[in-house]
Amino acid sequence: MIKSIVIIGAGLAGATATRYLRAQGYQGKIHLVGEELHVAYDRPSLSKDTLAGKMVEPPAILDPDWYASADIDLHLGVRVIGIDVVNRQVLFESGDLLAYDRLLLATGVRARRMAITGSELAGIHTLRDRSDSQALRQALERGQSLVIVGGGLIGCEVATTAINAGANVTILEAGDELLLRVLGRTTGAWCCNELERLGVRVELNAQASHFEGEGHVHAVVCADGRRIAADTVLVSIGAEPADELARAAGIACERGVVVDATGASSCPEVFAAGDVAAWPLRSGEQRSLETYLNSHMQAETAAAAMLGNPIPALQVPTSWTEIAGHRIQMVGDIEGPGEVVLRGNVENGQPLVLFRVLDGRVEAATAINAPKDFSVATRLVADHIPVSATKLRDASFNLRDFMKAKAKAERCE
Ligand code: NAD
Repeated sequence: MIKSIVIIGAGLAGATATRYLRAQGYQGKIHLVGEELHVAYDRPSLSKDTLAGKMVEPPAILDPDWYASADIDLHLGVRVIGIDVVNRQVLFESGDLLAYDRLLLATGVRARRMAITGSELAGIHTLRDRSDSQALRQALERGQSLVIVGGGLIGCEVATTAINAGANVTILEAGDELLLRVLGRTTGAWCCNELERLGVRVELNAQASHFEGEGHVHAVVCADGRRIAADTVLVSIGAEPADELARAAGIACERGVVVDATGASSCPEVFAAGDVAAWPLRSGEQRSLETYLNSHMQAETAAAAMLGNPIPALQVPTSWTEIAGHRIQMVGDIEGPGEVVLRGNVENGQPLVLFRVLDGRVEAATAINAPKDFSVATRLVADHIPVSATKLRDASFNLRDFMKAKAKAERCE
């Protein structure tokens, strides 16, 4: 009988699992442990509205009063420093021990840091939590120079916010295009043009070699000699799973805690969900997905499995971003095998959807300003529905009508 569940990590995955455990009727103890002093909040706003000052604080994921009403034992502002998987207990920095029947690791990721000369100078930021966002906001003054090292999701979202706030913004990206990891080359190149159109300077193939300054950063110098003056620097070069507790406890890890499609780790009572979990994907890979929507799905799946109601869920990466005033949504890996089919023409102000089609089925899609088509694309990917590339390419072919006709035909079968 499960009487006590401990969840380490009180962010999106931890909070979602907590709520789902109660929604499933579990009435035993739930201990939710978090290093930050706050209950779970919306991280996507940290690079957008919170950074822009449009919101004083990021919105909470769950009503802060919910935790008490649902009888959750909240342990905030405390660190777990060890897991004893034999005696099933976690060890706090204070020396206290807490026993568990099931343990969920929802510790997320940490911002990757640069180990180059000058990294310790003031004015160099990373962006992961609300205090990082507040510190960066204070530094973003009109007319000041912000250099962003790393042109991925954080870099491009912050560049949008900062240029709109009147800063001079330069992105230094080590690769030969922006946003390659998540959006692929076509959309990455398009975003690069859109950011440049707003006034952002983009330097590709730019490897930062050191930071210059006396006490405070003054410039970033690249390996090829390019030198860019900076009042403020943001390092946004990716994230590392916070899996050290699991590693130290002897739980299998490989760039994240290795779990099955229910979130179960190599230790039967320990589960993982969210960015820290290397989860099996429908494509056959296994890795951390680092997306909001997948964290949510994984947390619910793992919560069910901890209660003995396993609903295995292979994941398809699903996320969204807002760059240069455009909403971009993605499902699956657009860079995989097959043909990329374009629908629409965003240059003419039309919404655009890119589909990656393999053997007559959509494996992945990216939508730019096309939320309705994206919801159809998500179903095409999830349900593996056959559809020809010619139809997908034809903007006059109504995707929603196609799905309705398909559903009707299935009802009649
Ligand atoms: P990222 O992986 O999206 O981008 C990192 C970028 O930095 C890549 O383009 C990479 O080529 C570049 N890079 C790596 N080393 C470099 C170097 N030495 N010099 C210059 N460029 C270098 O990671 P991120 O933008 O740092 O985001 C961190 C985490 O936050 C990720 O998990 C991301 O998924 C998540 N996040 C997601 C969203 C979203 O889903 N909309 C938004 C913000 C952040």
